[in-house]
Amino acid sequence: MSIQKICATQTYTNLSEVRNDLVVVIDEDGTILSLDNKDDHDPASIRFFQGALVPGYVNAHCHLELSHMYGKVNTGTGLLPFIESVVSFRDTDQIVIDEAIRKADKSMWDNGIVAVGDICNKPDTFETKRLSPIYYHSFVEMFDFLQEPLARETYDRYKEVYDVAPADGWNARSAVPHAPYSVSKNLFQLINQLNQNSDTIISIHNQETPSENQLWQDGRGDIIPLFSKFGFSYDGFKPLGKGSIHYALSQFLPGQHVLFVHNTLTESHDIEAAHEYSDQTFWVSCPNANLYIENRLPDYKSFMDSDATVCLGTDSLTSNWQLSIFEEMKTIARFQSYVPTVELVKWATLNGAKALGLEDQLGIIDVGRRPGLNLITLNKDGQLDHSSTSTKLV
Ligand SMILES: [Zn+2]
Repeated sequence: MSIQKICATQTYTNLSEVRNDLVVVIDEDGTILSLDNKDDHDPASIRFFQGALVPGYVNAHCHLELSHMYGKVNTGTGLLPFIESVVSFRDTDQIVIDEAIRKADKSMWDNGIVAVGDICNKPDTFETKRLSPIYYHSFVEMFDFLQEPLARETYDRYKEVYDVAPADGWNARSAVPHAPYSVSKNLFQLINQLNQNSDTIISIHNQETPSENQLWQDGRGDIIPLFSKFGFSYDGFKPLGKGSIHYALSQFLPGQHVLFVHNTLTESHDIEAAHEYSDQTFWVSCPNANLYIENRLPDYKSFMDSDATVCLGTDSLTSNWQLSIFEEMKTIARFQSYVPTVELVKWATLNGAKALGLEDQLGIIDVGRRPGLNLITLNKDGQLDHSSTSTKLV
């Protein structure tokens, strides 16, 4: 295919206000050559579309290696029974695991996703990532159930995964803590030493379930009883008297670039504390997974009121029906319809690109970039609704 000229009813460039009848001229690898007025071109040379053109989607939180668990875990159980269930399925046949990973990678590409922040505990996804057209940032995730004496051996085990994670060209990697309820201070220190500086992009699951906040508030809730069942001891555990995000903030390197993931229980004062800690904080929401596991959504209004940079993730096929950022947008539009479409598009594209340090390349429709292009349909009020569709054009 040679040069293409694409013109949709509207174009969300993420640079300026929404443009009508803009002609996007692209070369054969998808690089944008020019943005023109419709009248500057012979209509016969243009492909016209009804709907809105948006940049390629960024999935800021996924667990590609859990793709084989699609449909295996019940919905609505709450986070802790969910984790127990996931652990019980971890010894599936490797051929089944590998095939599910390849299929999920392809489905994300077909769904218009161009970059993914992906959590890994094992090296299973690395071969697929090396071959994929999608940009992957592999977050090699570590956790020791808050057991200080286990930190070193836990770190050594995951460091082997980190060492073989793809990190060349269209791939990046970093070592990351799993969650404030599962990473000891010792392990945080080892992770910090490996990452060395605050520019390293890290990610952490945050404030996903009431027990997590309660653990750091007063040491009560379901987490210590559950982990004790695995044989761990919490005799010396000292709560902070504050929500779990405050433990994480006290353990990161100063001013670190952090993706906080889920945030279903995060309140304005937590967001403000994180903003004070660093100007590189990103708030990744996975609404379909939140509905699947805990049957609740974050309070998006408090994030918007705090000028937080919200981005979107699918989480894994263990807790979702598909890996589609567009379906995440539709879910927010359905349950929290006050979020304007222009904002949702930004969450799904530019903000995710910023979260992964890719804002110079992805998330904006502009000359010289190769952001990927998706066509979405909106209702007569210009909003997403249940019948909206998304088609990958480039
Ligand atoms: Zn996750």
